[in-house]
Amino acid sequence: MKCDVLTLFPDILTAYLNESIIKRAREKNLLDIKLYNIRDFASGPHRTVDDSPYGGGAGMVFKPEPIFRIVDYLKKDGEPRKVILLSPQGVTFDQSKAEAYAKEDRRFIFICGRYEGIDERVKVLVDEEISIGDYVITGGELAALVIIDAVTRLIPGALGDEKSAEDESFSWGLFDYPHYTRPREFRGMPVPNVLVSGNHKEIWLWRRKEALKKTIKIRPDLIEKLELTDIDKKILNSIEEE
Ligand code: SAM
Repeated sequence: MKCDVLTLFPDILTAYLNESIIKRAREKNLLDIKLYNIRDFASGPHRTVDDSPYGGGAGMVFKPEPIFRIVDYLKKDGEPRKVILLSPQGVTFDQSKAEAYAKEDRRFIFICGRYEGIDERVKVLVDEEISIGDYVITGGELAALVIIDAVTRLIPGALGDEKSAEDESFSWGLFDYPHYTRPREFRGMPVPNVLVSGNHKEIWLWRRKEALKKTIKIRPDLIEKLELTDIDKKILNSIEEE
């Protein structure tokens, strides 16, 4: 994944991007991330990036000029780019979007908004408006990090064990199954016997059942979208009978 993040607060991103899996992915050149401070592209002695809204109302609005300037500057190198505006009014980001972004050849530009939002005219630059959920946060930086993080996990070589991403929530179209580690019994709570049985088929069936059970309870909409196998149907029947 290659991306340019346009923000007023690059330090918010720097801290997260320099730790753990993302740091290692950057070191292995699996991730190429450049941060641009939008204020550097603002004009005037105060490098102002916001102004009051036409028509009145609370708060300030991100001015269009610095964002157009920075996007024009980046596009000069001719590399194909996909411009994403982080916004609560966008299409909701999910695992299938993360998978599509992991396969994207173009370089991303993420525009992180602040204030009441960005001047509407910036949208002519934008290929996709993306939300990380139905709530409002203070700025687009966390949203950009959420997307970068979710995509990184899907880039071959970014995780120590490639199977980890394959087994995670949503990759089966379901939640992940429950995980346990040592000790075998903790505060009177034992690890389910099947997990120490060494019977891989039984372990797989137990995990699939637990994943189905939890998903039906919390997110039945995910089950409706799932292509159920014959084994899934049998497991679901046994869950109904319990
Ligand atoms: N007035 C805007 C509205 O109600 O739609 C919200 C502006 S919000 C305070 C400031 C910035 O945070 C937005 O421009 C956007 O970049 C970012 N943001 C807020 N919530 C978001 C979400 N759910 N997903 C992605 N970005 C979000």
